[in-house]
Amino acid sequence: MRNRDQLRIQKQQQCEEKIASIYRQLPELERLDQTIGQKNIAMIRAGIMQKNTEAQKILQNEIENLMKQRHQLLKENGMDESIYEPEWDCPHCQDRGYIEPGVLCSCYQKERLDDLFLRSGMSEAMRGFTFSNFETRYYTNPADMDGKVQWCRQFAKQIQSGECSQCLFLTGGVGRGKTHLSAAIANGVLEGGKTVIYRRAADLFELIRQYRYEENRQKFEEMLEQLRTCDLLVIDDLGAERTTEFVVEQLVILLEERNYRNKPWIISSNLNINEIIQTYNDRTADRILDRAVLFKLDMPESIRVAKAKERMNQF
Ligand SMILES: [Zn+2]
Repeated sequence: MRNRDQLRIQKQQQCEEKIASIYRQLPELERLDQTIGQKNIAMIRAGIMQKNTEAQKILQNEIENLMKQRHQLLKENGMDESIYEPEWDCPHCQDRGYIEPGVLCSCYQKERLDDLFLRSGMSEAMRGFTFSNFETRYYTNPADMDGKVQWCRQFAKQIQSGECSQCLFLTGGVGRGKTHLSAAIANGVLEGGKTVIYRRAADLFELIRQYRYEENRQKFEEMLEQLRTCDLLVIDDLGAERTTEFVVEQLVILLEERNYRNKPWIISSNLNINEIIQTYNDRTADRILDRAVLFKLDMPESIRVAKAKERMNQF
């Protein structure tokens, strides 16, 4: 996250420099500003120290007249009073990040979301995958799929509120929406300000393999700690990679550590349960699936093919 105080000071300095350069071209503006400044001080003095309301009124009038002159002068030179304001990214909170103490600005929430998203390892395209654009009509049983999507929405909400004790295992062939559905859950969790890590199984296993041979383990320790403790871990495409016993064992340990901490995970795989058991053996499959709800994403053909056919039928 950026340092907002420092950036605000920078922007204020830039604004002062901008005004100084305008003054060089328009000395009359500088004189007017100085006079307005002096009259303002005089007015405060008259009000607070002398309690002289008559003098205050006169000064107030003079200031208003000077400001009208200034407005005219700025207008003649193609400007307005906005030159005195730094160019804030968010005029709403002037880049403070909060509207008032304790009330965060939407720009701060967006920045935090961007930051969380960036650190999640999800691709930019995955950011567009939501529950609303997940189309259930392509599935073999659309009503059943609607129910599953509803379950996933609840799942995301529970993770947001830290009350989730379940995990999710998605199986289905290529192009059956597994990545879309897990990204929709991940996006929902991120929007709640929670942390997500998304990794393809092959990349995760590579990381574990490297860790085994790495001498300087500090960096890896940090990464593994994030994998253990992030609010949601998504492992995509399990079963596509070549595995060794060591790597699978490490995966199981990771999942068990997360289960122990009540931290949910999602695994998606092109393999069905039988194939998982064949690939990883009974005991391992048991340990992986122990706490998971199992969803099979079933459709006669991939979404891409179904959509292409629809487009063709339009002509
Ligand atoms: Zn703001």
